[in-house]
Amino acid sequence: MNALHTSIHHSAVFDHPEMGSHEDIVFVQDRKTGLRAIIAVHDTTLGPALGGCRVWPYENPSDALTDALRLSRGMTYKNSLAGLDLGGGKAVIIADPRKDKTAEMMEAFGRHVERLSGTYITAEDVGVSPEDMEAVARQTAHVRGTQATGLGDPSPYTALGVFEGIKASAKHVFGSSDLDGKTVSVQGLGHVGYDVAGRLHEAGAKLIVSDIHAPAVLRAIETFGATAVDPGEAHMVDADIFAPCALGAGLNARTIPHIQAKVVAGAANNQLQTPADGEALKKRGILYAPDYAINAGGVISIALATPGGGDKLVREKTLAIGDTLSTIFERADREGTTPEHVADAMAEERLAKGKTA
Ligand code: NAD
Repeated sequence: MNALHTSIHHSAVFDHPEMGSHEDIVFVQDRKTGLRAIIAVHDTTLGPALGGCRVWPYENPSDALTDALRLSRGMTYKNSLAGLDLGGGKAVIIADPRKDKTAEMMEAFGRHVERLSGTYITAEDVGVSPEDMEAVARQTAHVRGTQATGLGDPSPYTALGVFEGIKASAKHVFGSSDLDGKTVSVQGLGHVGYDVAGRLHEAGAKLIVSDIHAPAVLRAIETFGATAVDPGEAHMVDADIFAPCALGAGLNARTIPHIQAKVVAGAANNQLQTPADGEALKKRGILYAPDYAINAGGVISIALATPGGGDKLVREKTLAIGDTLSTIFERADREGTTPEHVADAMAEERLAKGKTA
């Protein structure tokens, strides 16, 4: 490698646009198993950095680094706002989860997590199965969400938090958290969305549902008496509340002008395509529940579950998501800003306190 190449390579890492105040970025290679991974520890002010491990066939290591840097920073904010004594981190493994991933590779990843001595705690994310995490757990204790350490699938807790968040949003906009007779458009009926739909149905809400997977839609029609719409129209329907529970970036310049609901509150990650989309919602008088605030139930369950410890504490912290959102909405009104700005500010304030303590 010549000198010029080396200098370009170095600047690409340390001057990376997503490089913030990250504490540790570890590049992992294990030739025997083919493991190539990046572990990013963003901030450990509040505690060890907890964040999932994603397995994805990134086109190049630079994309993987971008994802690791962004996602680890996001975890710092999410964990801080959720009131957890945990920092933020994330790991990405550069591999196709269907073709390249092996138990040996996940074990090798576990050994590298172990080397970080608990600075980083890993868990499941996209492309990782419960079996994969059991393989990781054979090599390190710094893992959450396995059968031995956790409550299993975090989705029911995510759904519980989202339901509380929808009620808090309704209270702020309609003056009551009572959802009886309210119409809610639930987009995406997967692990979280279907559970949220069930809770809404029990609370007396009328459901409009959509999913690209037809069986899920049929089941919701039969079980909840829901009305179905095309997934692309979920945001346009005549509803009081729009709950995006599919994939991200659904709130953008194309969709926002057509939203009929007065509230957008759902489980999906990264709902706003750009920060300007948050401003656009505010301008249209639509209340937006910041995604990482309302969908924190899953990480709360992963963080606080203890072997045989039951879920009392997890439920308490998850139910508190409603109060956190009410605080966010009131402050956003007072300060004339958007809820997502306030959520970021509250997460940063807790971090700043932690840093001086
Ligand atoms: P999932 O894969 O079980 O469900 C996603 C559902 O969305 C599937 O049924 C899929 O068919 C459907 N879908 C995909 N594209 C769609 C489209 N364009 N229109 C309508 N439906 C579409 O995932 P999940 O675990 O339920 O998670 C849902 C969202 O919540 C994701 O954005 C996820 O990142 C976020 N989230 C989940 C958790 C959790 O605990 N599972 C925690 C925090 C955030």
